[in-house]
Amino acid sequence: MSDATPLHLPAGLNYGCIQCGLSCKMFNEVSVEEASRRRIEEIDYRALMHPDARETTFLVSSPSAPGKDILRRHCGTCVFQQNDGLCAIHAAHGFRQKPQTCQDFPYRYAETPAGAFVGLSFACTAVLQNAGPAVAEQRDYLAENRPRANAVLDHRGPVRLTHRHEISWEAYELLEEDLRRILHATDEALEMRLIAQTVYIDLYAAFLREMRNDSIDRANRPLPGDFGSTTGRFPADSGPATDAKALLATRKKYVERDGGAELFRIAKKMKGSGALQRAFIGLITAFRQSLDYKGRKPGRLATTVKIMRHYMTHALRLGRVSLDPLKESFDYEAFARIPFTLESGSPEDQLLLRFLDHTIFRKDLLGVESVWLGQRLLLMHVALIRWHAVGKAALLGRTRVDIECLREAIRIIELHYLTHTKIVTLFDKIPSLGMILDAIVRKPAFAPSMVEKKV
Ligand code: SF4
Repeated sequence: MSDATPLHLPAGLNYGCIQCGLSCKMFNEVSVEEASRRRIEEIDYRALMHPDARETTFLVSSPSAPGKDILRRHCGTCVFQQNDGLCAIHAAHGFRQKPQTCQDFPYRYAETPAGAFVGLSFACTAVLQNAGPAVAEQRDYLAENRPRANAVLDHRGPVRLTHRHEISWEAYELLEEDLRRILHATDEALEMRLIAQTVYIDLYAAFLREMRNDSIDRANRPLPGDFGSTTGRFPADSGPATDAKALLATRKKYVERDGGAELFRIAKKMKGSGALQRAFIGLITAFRQSLDYKGRKPGRLATTVKIMRHYMTHALRLGRVSLDPLKESFDYEAFARIPFTLESGSPEDQLLLRFLDHTIFRKDLLGVESVWLGQRLLLMHVALIRWHAVGKAALLGRTRVDIECLREAIRIIELHYLTHTKIVTLFDKIPSLGMILDAIVRKPAFAPSMVEKKV
């Protein structure tokens, strides 16, 4: 990656490592590339390994990507983690001796045509607490680390607004500005702001379709992944006016005029369904849980059957809610008993807003097939955060979602469900499940259902 292009740092976020060592426990796979391996071999690394693991090597082959070396784990954590939770390599030889992946955490660089955007992982305790100095103060280190970092995502290719429409980077940046502006329109409830984002992307896509004279033949509508093949696509410059101009026209009408009154009027007309939320989140959590098998890896048929059974159980509201990694299951009544209404300006409200805003800044919307899908998955993540936060509160016997429950829920979602996690690979491996997912996400009721309180 070029280090000559600008480095963009998130405003209002702080990170000062409190070296909790939690990340060393949480990540099953810490990759070790050649330079990191050599650096560890230069030191007396055996003395730093867990005493029961010293007879082995510190590397194993990744089960998910055979041939790739990862750090060995012992008793559920990295072999180099000390009893006090800190890193033995760091303690004995300093930060720079650690594998590059460990040096990168919690930062991740999103390379774009406008430079690199530095994102943070909300799996990190210090990031969740917004503790320490401002990220902006660490510019020199981040610039220096950028060329050697492993945690880099490349978003320099064309931006897809929908699976059929490309837009220019300029138009995407304008769209992102509007999505963040809508997210911060605090006169409206957070749920409504999220639905309004969905509506805004749909309005912009509809306007572009009109401008580009794109009369979709619904019977032959291209499937996801069919982008650019026989059915064709509409590149960024294919309309009578540029996509940036179209965005500015959409902005004028739906964001600027009367403070976005028309946009919120449309959003408020949309009706959600608790049953759809239950069924969809049941499906997604089953997807995720099928990745954590103990012993022999189940076949595709067994995985599909297990996921479908889980899906039906939730859809019909049978039994209890079982959510990994929460230790016990809880009853559906918890959603009615424990409100997830975060008072405006409260620490909980600020944390959730900070997280959602940052996922847009760090370019999570570009991590899937289209921005359209990325924003819908953002809604799914909000529903998952609610489920885990309510579940955590229920298991702790609390009557409300407090900051501890919310932090834990965000950490889980960051680790297990976002688009950089391995859940995405499952959709590729089992196309039939991917098609069910696609059909649900396309429903007009999808967005309001993800924020529906009655589950
Ligand atoms: S090498 Fe150190 S920082 Fe990296 S995972 Fe192991 S204990 Fe954690």
